Amino acid sequence: MGDEMDDTQPERRCAICDTRATKKNPLLHEWADEYLCFNDFTSESGKQWRDNKRREDPAYDRYKRLLSLGGPRQCPVCGFGMRLRLKAGGMGAGIWEVSCTTCYRVNYDGISAYRMEQELGYNAVSALETAYETGQVGDEELEEAIGRLAKVYDATIRPTQCECDGHFSLAAKPRCARCASVLLDTYFCYAWSPETNVV
Ligand SMILES: [Zn+2]
Ligand SMILES: [Zn+2]
Ligand SMILES: [Zn+2]
Repeated sequence: MGDEMDDTQPERRCAICDTRATKKNPLLHEWADEYLCFNDFTSESGKQWRDNKRREDPAYDRYKRLLSLGGPRQCPVCGFGMRLRLKAGGMGAGIWEVSCTTCYRVNYDGISAYRMEQELGYNAVSALETAYETGQVGDEELEEAIGRLAKVYDATIRPTQCECDGHFSLAAKPRCARCASVLLDTYFCYAWSPETNVV
């Protein structure tokens, strides 16, 4: 007995074996407009495809990191459970979340690609992230560059002041909600927990 075609996805083909979806071997969404058939999705061929693609495609690599960063992170000082999320990822694409310089709070409306006074800032910080991840910008240059962007664009963040004594800044790192220690030495993630999902 043959495997019937699934005609609900007539145009789509597996990115690995180029077959169309069938009832026994459906296509599963991998990312963007790329699908893998169930057989490839779940086997070694899929793993190799993903490994290669992460090396070759920075955007895909970023997407996979975004998924993996959704996992819990413990504060290195007090052990409090938080999560780290990549800025301007997933549902928040187009808005760069901005952390407070001294506490856990995040301005989720930080720097928007769609606001005239912030568009350049959004583009600059996104480009800086890509340059850093692809090795074109090193750690020291990153510090300088993020400092320069913060000087220019922090003033466009509304509100600029946090409820604590700090302010929201492109140069702020994610912090623990319990003890305010830096969770991870990065400008490209923000800290999140169900209790802190408020501005
Ligand atoms: Zn396939
Ligand atoms: Zn604060
Ligand atoms: Zn802590």
